[in-house]
Amino acid sequence: MRSLVDGYLSHIMDECHSDRSGHVADYIPELAAVDPEGYGLSLCVHDGHTYSHGDSATAFTIQSVSKPLTYAMILKKHGAAAVDAKIGVEPSGEAFNEISVDDRRRPKNPMINAGAIFAASMLLPPTRDVDAAAVDAAFREVLEFYSGCAGRHLVMDEEVYASEAATGSRNRAIAYMLDSFGALETSPDAALDLYYRQCSIRVTTDDLAGIGATIANGGMNPRTGRTVFSNETAQRLLSVMTTCGMYDGAGDWVTSVGLPAKSGVGGGILAVLPGQLGIGVYSPRLDEHGNSVRGVEVCRHLSTDLGLHMFNVT
Ligand code: GLU
Repeated sequence: MRSLVDGYLSHIMDECHSDRSGHVADYIPELAAVDPEGYGLSLCVHDGHTYSHGDSATAFTIQSVSKPLTYAMILKKHGAAAVDAKIGVEPSGEAFNEISVDDRRRPKNPMINAGAIFAASMLLPPTRDVDAAAVDAAFREVLEFYSGCAGRHLVMDEEVYASEAATGSRNRAIAYMLDSFGALETSPDAALDLYYRQCSIRVTTDDLAGIGATIANGGMNPRTGRTVFSNETAQRLLSVMTTCGMYDGAGDWVTSVGLPAKSGVGGGILAVLPGQLGIGVYSPRLDEHGNSVRGVEVCRHLSTDLGLHMFNVT
């Protein structure tokens, strides 16, 4: 059985290999310098077994794939009602870094930067003078939680973090806009610092598949057997990933692939088949929405060939 699956996975990797369209993210030098040919695929199934193909051990930064995980942390810490009062769950249809909020001045959802920066702020002490030690402590919790989801110890890429922090004018504008509404209980700079750090955590496709399998299993990592979050949180993550996970390409993604997913500008895509498996794909050339070109193609093949679309009625 396993060799059959491996044969099929290398076949779809080959099918999508020749597509060299798209461009690597270039807003910081560290991302512009990655090998555009990097290409990995991992599938983690319910018993924790992981099928790994191509560059499945190559580390890249998690970037926006971090957003559902920090959302899970604030749901766990504050409860859904308190989180909903601050961050909406409506798809925005806008670019991920749009400076926009809903008519209650809440970020529209936790998968766009405004919602993700707000989510990071909710992990910090509710005081304006947050010191560096408090940000360090919150980041230790972030690393521990993300590592629990992946099933192994993760670390941050210091260079990417320094670059994100040095070039993040747009994100600063978003954080300060939220602050101008009186919405943040902590300092905007501390929230940004934590957000840049979470985006700079290094993962592989094996890690993304493990995180996906943890979400698929209702919060229990199938490799370690450890429960990291609740069933309710998993259901919430799957819902926002379905409606908002693929930037402003979410509608097209749901129609053609039909799996809850989140992508990041580092080139990673995390997709989930609820109750069954987690998928991690990496290929750093991105389409106009910021989604990995080959990553989307691989997922499209998987979904079509195996009938994984969540609304499959055959
Ligand atoms: N660090 C990036 C930013 O906030 C993450 C973007 C992304 O992956 O969408 O601009």
